[in-house]
Amino acid sequence: MEDKHMLMIPGPTPVPEKVLKALGTHPIGHRSGDFSKIIAEINDNLKWLHQTKNEVLSLNVSGTGAMEAGMINFLSPGDRVLVGVNGKFGDRWAQICEVFGIQTERITSDWGTPLDPEEFKTALEADTNKEIKAVVITHSETSAGVLNDLETINKYVKAHGEALIIVDAVTSLGAYNVPVDDWGLDVVASGSQKGYMIPPGLGFISVSDKAWKAYETSKFPRFYMDLGKYKKANAKNSTPFTPPINLMFGLQTALQMMQREGLENIFTRHQRLTNATRAAATAMGLSLFAPDDAASTAVTAIRTDDAEAIRTTMRQKYDIALAGGQDHLKGKIFRVGHLGFISDRDVIMTIGCLEATLTELGHDFEPKSGTKAAAAALV
Ligand SMILES: *Cc1c(COP(=O)(O)O)cnc(C)c1O
Repeated sequence: MEDKHMLMIPGPTPVPEKVLKALGTHPIGHRSGDFSKIIAEINDNLKWLHQTKNEVLSLNVSGTGAMEAGMINFLSPGDRVLVGVNGKFGDRWAQICEVFGIQTERITSDWGTPLDPEEFKTALEADTNKEIKAVVITHSETSAGVLNDLETINKYVKAHGEALIIVDAVTSLGAYNVPVDDWGLDVVASGSQKGYMIPPGLGFISVSDKAWKAYETSKFPRFYMDLGKYKKANAKNSTPFTPPINLMFGLQTALQMMQREGLENIFTRHQRLTNATRAAATAMGLSLFAPDDAASTAVTAIRTDDAEAIRTTMRQKYDIALAGGQDHLKGKIFRVGHLGFISDRDVIMTIGCLEATLTELGHDFEPKSGTKAAAAALV
């Protein structure tokens, strides 16, 4: 059937009707007074979402562009950094550092296992000459459905005193508590197609005073990605280059919706959806890839050897998109996204279809146990 496609992947995520309508309105001039008012409102609401007084900058890039900008504006060639790697995205940030000639030390754990904060503590304490300029952490590692312990790692970064903490919050911002000012997070990157409930195309970066100080001595060449330009323009409720105007209309509407729901409610909703998905998977005899105490609230990774058959049936019979495994996990896991504009109904429907799919594929489990467990978790 046409127009019934359901995105249950960790980005792009579904877009509310109100936002689709805003996206479909006629563009206006980006140097007009009317657009300036929209930027002012968006900037205030982005600060609210980030729980910060810091500048939050919007760039016409995907999440990766936001991360790259977040590194090349505050570091210099030859700087030493620690990068946490326990999945595809952590690995990507290490690769970016390497491409730019940054001395990159990877602190790793297996995909599916959270990073060990004590390893960061050891490395940071050993650095008595204060050579480590930044610690780069993927808060919610989407490729494995793991939530890393950013709060504890950040405490060790603060004890070090010199290093910046640079965070990929692409699938934690708007899904989990990321109190930027309370924790003193220096650079926090995110992208529009995840918790923001709008299509891809915008990247966001919050920047602390400490990071702006590092910006003054950072030596990488940059032009379009020069965050100083965005800061200057932001102060005048403007943008240095032409922004994706219609996406900004959508963002304005989406942020208003998020404000009406409230931060606490947003976090609670994501936690409930996570609990329901995990309970259902377990009840149906599937094994969870990430441990309970380090589960991403954006995506649940499930381990099973027929992951691709499950995804194919879910897509062909029920028009529900699930994500597959990446790299060495291809075919070994599938991932259920529950990020952004997702409700209890969406999860119960997905679990119901998954139940039917597993039955068709010959899985042996108690009938209806998945939906029962999901519904019980959502009471
Ligand atoms: C989606 C995602 C990104 C950004 O990917 P883009 O395709 O560049 O938008 C970065 N980090 C994580 C953890 C993600 O889930």
